[in-house]
Amino acid sequence: MATNRDELTSYAWRQLRARTLAASDVCIVCGHGASDSADHVIPVSKGGARLDPDNVAPIHGVYGCPVCLRRCNSEKGDRPLSDLVQLATSVDWFAGPQ
Ligand SMILES: [Zn+2]
Ligand SMILES: [Zn+2]
Repeated sequence: MATNRDELTSYAWRQLRARTLAASDVCIVCGHGASDSADHVIPVSKGGARLDPDNVAPIHGVYGCPVCLRRCNSEKGDRPLSDLVQLATSVDWFAGPQ
């Protein structure tokens, strides 16, 4: 029987994501509850630890946030969270040009 490394990794990831969501469902991007997914605070592609519980946090995934309707995970994409927070605070979403 062949061992599929990717499958093992994604199994571990699913376990970690489930544990993360069981501990908290407050989204790291918008701060509302009811997160349905989890994501890396520091993306793996930027050197973040893939399976480190300290680097994984709840986030709104495909279903979006029921409060602000953002799809936080796709907004965040592959950026470190600090980039996104900077973006969000440097842009005035509600008073843009008419
Ligand atoms: Zn959110
Ligand atoms: Zn929200």
